[in-house]
Amino acid sequence: SYAALAGRTAVVTGAASGMGEATARLLATNGARVALLSRRRDRLDDLAAKIVADGGQALVVPVDVTDQASVDAAVAAVHEAYGPADLVVNNAGVMLPNPIDDGRVDEWTRMIDTNITGALRIIRAFTADLVAAAAEGRTADLVNVSSIAAHLTFPNYAVYSATKAALTHLSAMLRTELGPRDVRITNIEPGMTDTELGGHMDNAALAEELRGLQEAVGSLSSDEIADVIAFVTSRPRHVNLRQVMVLPTRQA
Ligand code: NDP
Repeated sequence: SYAALAGRTAVVTGAASGMGEATARLLATNGARVALLSRRRDRLDDLAAKIVADGGQALVVPVDVTDQASVDAAVAAVHEAYGPADLVVNNAGVMLPNPIDDGRVDEWTRMIDTNITGALRIIRAFTADLVAAAAEGRTADLVNVSSIAAHLTFPNYAVYSATKAALTHLSAMLRTELGPRDVRITNIEPGMTDTELGGHMDNAALAEELRGLQEAVGSLSSDEIADVIAFVTSRPRHVNLRQVMVLPTRQA
């Protein structure tokens, strides 16, 4: 268990499925109250019901992180119900690979707007909360879920990888502004993890390739990523595992 999480006020984006769902559950199990942010309200309702049935606290906040007005409304809902946040997990993301020659501006826009600008909208919304919490001597965490894709070179995933490289770099740069004010920034870079992420691509050959790779190297579970996030956010506040790569042992 991660006792230090008790009493924290957490915001998790992309909480409808995969790593976000698992992280929200684990934070709640350890006594944090958790705002669940993503687009699919039915999934968030189910998750909140499970958390409450387990004795935890959860708030359903439907949001599209690509829409500033939607984010503004979500932030107001979090503040009204819970007050300021002290643990923010930027996890929402989409992965839409295709050959660069296809020129899929629609997919590029969606990935950039979700994985980079969406994360920035959430950072913009909660930085003041985190700075204030830290100034009061409380632990304040911003966790960005990037990817090992930030470092790999791999055909057809150029734009996705670029969004993740941007997020990794953003984490490193933000440490220089917020670290001196005791806001802890952690960049998590998972490898192959069994979630819905690959289910949105429209290229059957690439979907098949991904399944093959997953069979070859195996995959982590969302719970295993959630465990890492709970671990890093429950250390003493001056201890920052700033960059965590977590991969299946067989993934090169
Ligand atoms: P999932 O597809 O299961 O989860 C992604 C979540 O993001 C969903 O819950 C989705 O919920 C939410 N989301 C997507 N678009 C938006 C949006 N516009 N506004 C709000 N929420 C949105 O996949 P994962 O759990 O794998 O993904 C979580 C993160 O992990 C992503 O950033 C991904 O890039 C990263 N990652 C995943 C890896 C893997 O192998 N699976 C490896 C490395 C990194 P909804 O549809 O309800 O909005």
